[in-house]
Amino acid sequence: MLAQFTPTWMIEATYNINPKELKQLGIKVVLTDLDNTLIAWNNPYGTEELRDWMTSLERENIQLVVVSNNSHRRVKKAVAALQLPFISRALKPFSGGIRRAMRQYQVSENEVVMVGDQLLTDIAAANFSKIRSILVRPIIESDAWNTRINRFFERFVMHAMLRKHPELKFRKDLINERNK
Ligand SMILES: [Mg+2]
Repeated sequence: MLAQFTPTWMIEATYNINPKELKQLGIKVVLTDLDNTLIAWNNPYGTEELRDWMTSLERENIQLVVVSNNSHRRVKKAVAALQLPFISRALKPFSGGIRRAMRQYQVSENEVVMVGDQLLTDIAAANFSKIRSILVRPIIESDAWNTRINRFFERFVMHAMLRKHPELKFRKDLINERNK
């Protein structure tokens, strides 16, 4: 049961995920949640760190794709400033959206990673899809009301998961810090 909500890695922030390390790990496509993972819901333009991160992903030839449960209209508007391809109505925690993205970019399970701030949706969807995942800290704590209810359950699962996996901690690095 808990295995379904356990990420492969935990990283402080999305922009801390090192594109060179992703490449070393064989990742060709990074799927990312939108709200509170890539951008704060009240800042659609993203931060400077995010933009720098996107540039360095491009440099490593890694494709970034937004996979969101939100509607086409909402996601299209949100990513317009970032000019990113996206999959909307992904139905996370189910695997539909992730599978759709994998078909579209013709990548196999070990060539893709899902980044998100929620165990119950993003990480569960990654595990359902049998791909690796990175949990990041939410950009800001205050959310839309529906996410706030989710967070309540999220906290329980997070506690249980961390108790079972003391080796998992929010880090700044995928590879080098792993065994510290
Ligand atoms: Mg989110």
